[in-house]
Amino acid sequence: MFKRASRVIPGGVHSNARYIKPYPLFFSKAKGKKIWDIDGNEYVDYFVNHGAIVLGHAYERVDEAVRRQMDSGLAAGYESELTVSTAEDLVGMIPHAEMARFAGSGSDAVMSAVHIARGYTGRKKVLKTEGGWHGTYDYVCASYRSPLDRAGPEKTPNTIPESAGFVHEDIIRNTLVAPFNDSDAMEAIIRKNKKDLAAVIIEPIMHNCGAIMPKQGYLKSVREITKDNDVLLIFDEVITGFRGAPGGAQEYYGVEADISTFGKALANGYPIAALVGKRDILRTSGPDTKLGSIGGFGGVIFGGTFHAHHLAVAACKATMAELRDGRVARHLNHLTDKLIKRVQEISTDVGSNMRVEGLGGEFTFYFSDHEVSNYRDAISTDSGTGEGFLRLQKHLQDRGIRFLPRHIYHHGFSYSHTEDDIEELARAIRESLSHRDR
Ligand code: PLP
Repeated sequence: MFKRASRVIPGGVHSNARYIKPYPLFFSKAKGKKIWDIDGNEYVDYFVNHGAIVLGHAYERVDEAVRRQMDSGLAAGYESELTVSTAEDLVGMIPHAEMARFAGSGSDAVMSAVHIARGYTGRKKVLKTEGGWHGTYDYVCASYRSPLDRAGPEKTPNTIPESAGFVHEDIIRNTLVAPFNDSDAMEAIIRKNKKDLAAVIIEPIMHNCGAIMPKQGYLKSVREITKDNDVLLIFDEVITGFRGAPGGAQEYYGVEADISTFGKALANGYPIAALVGKRDILRTSGPDTKLGSIGGFGGVIFGGTFHAHHLAVAACKATMAELRDGRVARHLNHLTDKLIKRVQEISTDVGSNMRVEGLGGEFTFYFSDHEVSNYRDAISTDSGTGEGFLRLQKHLQDRGIRFLPRHIYHHGFSYSHTEDDIEELARAIRESLSHRDR
């Protein structure tokens, strides 16, 4: 299949993140916690569509809502009671949300969030954290996997664009980079650039380096520093959204952003994203706003043929209905705590330095004796190569437990996974780590 795929698709995959050496697996079916490859092998899935499957694959109440919506015949391009009431649902669930707009993907939502921040403040620059990933929009797609020999000083990392085809000099000029979990370093960069800085964008938990948890008080400091310097704060909740708490990481940590972006779990795997925020900020993207800009649109441009596609919005509404009362987040947090505890016990017993970090069913395994608080800590775990994890991944895969073979990646599970699954995973981890020591 890979050979056939490679003939018509570059690398054989439609998203480069899916490419795995020597070749990616191809799948035929998914249901609940399980996934089947095209050779008929069955796995308990700990990839869950890059974290998007929060309830379970083919979750009946969500799929039923989509099937019902099909009968209306409405697809994209129209507004309806459904697109309004689902925006109301988001505004009701997310702490700082006064308005919401649907977008096509996480990258699309992030791009608009940055455009809105620039339009609202009249400034150009944006600050991100080293190791953070916010999708493929040029101005935030930098310093995600900086090679250490070019990464620059720890407190003022260099801006390294991640892709050919970007206008590098513009990105280097307009995208600033700070280390995660160091509010003093961020404050110094903000103070120096505040006249030109529109926004700070941050993953509340830096999942794109596995699961780097914010230190106690860090997100609150980031909120205070941005407020004190009159800079907007964008929480990129594309991964954290709705997992640790129904209102996202901002509810969990009690910190409110000015704008936030959601995707992935928003519709349990159906393709939709959203940005939400304060009324006066989001209104800059409205059709009736004038910011003295060039062109015919007046304010910050916002739109897309597939924005608020009715099938995806129906899935979103049904997913929100499941998430709202907090039972899903409680289950995910309970299982995450259990996994953390089990792996701690196993590591102590067998003398391994492996541990689990995470929240809300998104987690990673770190092989390290040290605290992992930023990108540079994360990439030096597990001998810097991921060999320990890759051995574990192979052992799990042979036992029908599917993890992506990728060092410092975020893994995940859904509401359909059970305590028994976590116990089975823990047993397989014990086997693998014990075997390794002999
Ligand atoms: N923001 C974060 C934190 C992400 O992890 C991702 C994707 O992994 C994105 C934004 C981009 O979302 P999408 O892949 O839907 O464009």
